[in-house]
Amino acid sequence: MQISGLFNEKKTVLSMEVFPPKKTSSIETIYSTLSDLQELRPDFISVTYGAGGNAGDTLTCDIASSIKYKYGIEPLAHLTCVNYTKAEIDIILDLLQQKGIENILALRGDINPDIPPKNEFRYASELVAYIKERGGFHVSGACYPEGHIASENLIGDIHNLKRKVDAGAEHLISQLFFDNSYYYSFLEKARIAGITVPIEAGIMPVVNKAQIERMVTLCGASLPAKFTKMMQRFEHSPEALRDAGIAYAVDQMVDLMTQGVDGIHLYTMNNSLIAKRIHASIAGLISRE
Ligand code: FAD
Repeated sequence: MQISGLFNEKKTVLSMEVFPPKKTSSIETIYSTLSDLQELRPDFISVTYGAGGNAGDTLTCDIASSIKYKYGIEPLAHLTCVNYTKAEIDIILDLLQQKGIENILALRGDINPDIPPKNEFRYASELVAYIKERGGFHVSGACYPEGHIASENLIGDIHNLKRKVDAGAEHLISQLFFDNSYYYSFLEKARIAGITVPIEAGIMPVVNKAQIERMVTLCGASLPAKFTKMMQRFEHSPEALRDAGIAYAVDQMVDLMTQGVDGIHLYTMNNSLIAKRIHASIAGLISRE
């Protein structure tokens, strides 16, 4: 099933994201996470893609295929392009098709100073157009409520986002944010720019201080005073920080659902325990819709 249809059927789509384990020897851990997430019946589960540049990396395809056939949930396979040639992308697309995957999150991928880009795809929009021309896949894209970290300003970034949608992206998933006002302001600008596709809000619950510091360095998300005070207050108590982080994420989600958000994409960090607790807090809101 192509996930575009979900947004017509449901008031708030709830999706979750997992990543393949770093070592293939720990592959079983992802299956135990997925088995827990299956109980929560998310509308789809996305699987990240390493930006490495090795077209033989089949882990994302394998996990996405299991999500579909073993766990009965629609998968969305991430795919980066900056380190691949068109011929290499063709190999991955063939594999995804063979594995029954119908949904791709088309990404540029971060530019790694140690891996020179192959320059056949410079931006995600070029991958979106390439996949749409080939046909057979629903294509999603990424978006950034506070602007992509390398963009000069939000307006320029939204113009580039419009190109991605015009190239064929049918749905967008946002970068994580901790202040909903950035998301609402971005949404308004995106709609004014003529971007009409569903835009899911990306929410990442804080589970520990190091994780959040790493994420913020990578993506540049702003930390509101309420959030930093919470981190400072509870940083020495892992349980307290985890509980406060869950409550903070739930509060964001309730506000987003109240405002009628198209969907919420939960960055689970492969932590099914936290996903379960969050789900339990919002289950009534989801099931009434
Ligand atoms: P693009 O849409 O190409 O944008 C990148 C930059 O280029 C932006 O600054 C944009 O404004 C600019 N730009 C775009 N088009 C043009 C143009 N025509 N002319 C000039 N400038 C332009 N990374 C991974 O490696 N694996 C993953 O699985 C993964 N999953 C992600 C999931 C989500 C929901 C998000 C938000 C990010 C994810 N990333 C992942 C990170 C992503 O790869 C990086 O943020 C990357 O730097 C940008 O990717 P993009 O697809 O948004 O790029």
